[in-house]
Amino acid sequence: MLKVSLGKDVSTQFHFDESAESFFDETFEDDDFFSVSEKFVGRIEIDGEIVNDGTSMIIRGKINCRKKFVCDRCLTSAEENQVHEFDEEVDTAEIADGLFDITELVKDTLIAAQPIQNLCKADCRGLCPTCGKNLNDGECECNKTKIDPRLAPMLKFKGIDGF
Ligand SMILES: [Zn+2]
Ligand SMILES: [Zn+2]
Repeated sequence: MLKVSLGKDVSTQFHFDESAESFFDETFEDDDFFSVSEKFVGRIEIDGEIVNDGTSMIIRGKINCRKKFVCDRCLTSAEENQVHEFDEEVDTAEIADGLFDITELVKDTLIAAQPIQNLCKADCRGLCPTCGKNLNDGECECNKTKIDPRLAPMLKFKGIDGF
């Protein structure tokens, strides 16, 4: 539980530094949003502030985390650091005994920010559909055999290996 204690000040700063594993175990318990090949590792850090201008309350800040996943194209395992920002109005009905629980906010922000595809890099070349070779490691033999040698200089210019 990530609870921010709200005083009478206009701005309340907060900082949480949690083990990603325990945060996700507790928060995503009955939730299968993340597939088995996606896992947050290391620390999850949340920094922000709640600003109370007397009529409304705004919460804003950012989440730093590290995700481990299997690339959807080349099927190798990869990790990336992620930073996600949030900025929204606090539903004051959710404040109990001067405490505001930001767990759901963090969870929703993380879910909304995940890409549709998990890629090891934006230009991942994936696997050859014929031989299964990871094309990030270089061309396979499948495409080479039938190329007109007169085209070779052009292919070399385009950065295709093997000519
Ligand atoms: Zn990949
Ligand atoms: Zn191939």
